Amino acid sequence: MTAQPNPARQATLVALVGRPNVGKSTLFNRITKTRKAIVDPTPGVTRDRHYERVEWNDRPFILVDTGGIDTAPDDRMVTSIREQSMAAIEEADVICFLLDGREGLTRSDYEVTELLRRTEKPIYFVVNKIDSPELEATLLASFYELGADRLWPVAAEHGYGIKNFLDALVAGFKESGELPPLPENTISLAFLGRPNVGKSSLINRLVGEERMVVSNIPGTTRDSVDTMLATKHQNYLLIDTAGIRRKGKVQEKLEKFSVMRSLAALERADIALLVIDAEEGITEQDTKVIGYALEQGRACILVVNKWDLVKNDAKRQKQIREEISRLTGFVGFAPVLTVSALTGTGVAKLFPTVGQVYRQYNGSFSTGKLNRILQEATDSHPAGLYRGKRLKFYYTTQVTSKPPSFAVFTNYPKGVHFSYERYLMNTFREQLGLDKVPVRLFFRERQRRA
Ligand code: GDP
Ligand code: GDP
Repeated sequence: MTAQPNPARQATLVALVGRPNVGKSTLFNRITKTRKAIVDPTPGVTRDRHYERVEWNDRPFILVDTGGIDTAPDDRMVTSIREQSMAAIEEADVICFLLDGREGLTRSDYEVTELLRRTEKPIYFVVNKIDSPELEATLLASFYELGADRLWPVAAEHGYGIKNFLDALVAGFKESGELPPLPENTISLAFLGRPNVGKSSLINRLVGEERMVVSNIPGTTRDSVDTMLATKHQNYLLIDTAGIRRKGKVQEKLEKFSVMRSLAALERADIALLVIDAEEGITEQDTKVIGYALEQGRACILVVNKWDLVKNDAKRQKQIREEISRLTGFVGFAPVLTVSALTGTGVAKLFPTVGQVYRQYNGSFSTGKLNRILQEATDSHPAGLYRGKRLKFYYTTQVTSKPPSFAVFTNYPKGVHFSYERYLMNTFREQLGLDKVPVRLFFRERQRRA
């Protein structure tokens, strides 16, 4: 069994910006190959098609379609390209500015170029809808007016130019993204949540409260510093995603994009600590982040901060607990803690809870034990028929930890009904004491004997 390594290296965050209709989502789908669309969805998880982890030439990156970020069905505001660009400048490592080769340059293309020029981050000018080499000869030249050293002609719809572009993109990733390996016995915790919920305060409180050796380790993103807490037996890496303090309107406008930073932090976290403001409650953005954490196979703890503000308000307390359990039902296993970073109340529960969650998350189980559980489960409650044949379960084994993942070998993987899968999942969870973390079951067809 292999533990899934948590990459010490943070995946590079690549943002796609561009006017509506230039082909951002087509390019996004082309690059990510929409492979996730096939995986059957976990009920309740908010699926967002606008972020995806990609690997090209063995280099991982997270691709973000900033144009799509705002498209909640009830939200009619279209994210302006200006906002997208500003967010990309703030949050991303690399920016791909997508242009429409057929339409030619527009005034807004010049404006965005002007805006992007203010950052030192690498920018790729990608000209889309160049459907053939002949078109490249006629359409591309005018785009040099933007002053880019190099243009990347592509046709997102047909795949033209994509390979060349991706080769160059990942070859340009900064090697300085390479982080020193973490000491053994380190649990990485990503503090996520909307601005002002108290992430930094909580980290400060933890650092102040615990008698531990504290060291700052070089920030992986601009303006960020990770904190390492060391005890004799356990190290904790605290990843703050609070980012730079912005004021007023700009902060408000860019807030929805701060989710990008969460995605990057999750890449190297074991446990996502989603911090929620007790007064404000849980937001749709929070549930998206949890959904993404789950998709990435991370464990999760919900931390309701600023409990001091509602400590005498039993009604509000009840209300927020209900709200959380309603909106986060799909991570029903995630512990919920109520704390106050300001007064320190409840904060002492945090590391013990982290410890419990991590032990489960990193747990490993013998094949013998697993097979006994499977046997008992299928004996006491046999699966039904599939196309007139009896479903059989032969054996099971753990494939990874972080999160605990098990392969169950059966004659008809497709024949396992959802309710039976849930039954097996619940039995595994119960018998293995895995009540606080995500668990994965895969059904595989038994190898036929030769
Ligand atoms: P977005 O608004 O920037 O996300 O743009 P979309 O990806 O929705 O694409 C807008 C339109 O451009 C769609 O009708 C696409 O079919 C079309 N389109 C995208 N890529 C190409 C391409 O490579 N060639 C051509 N001719 N059309 C494309
Ligand atoms: P971040 O943006 O999530 O890192 O939030 P900060 O840690 O900067 O906190 C935002 C504001 O909330 C600050 O004014 C804090 O003093 C305040 N704050 C943080 N934790 C608490 C808390 O537990 N109770 C109260 N009343 N205020 C808090």
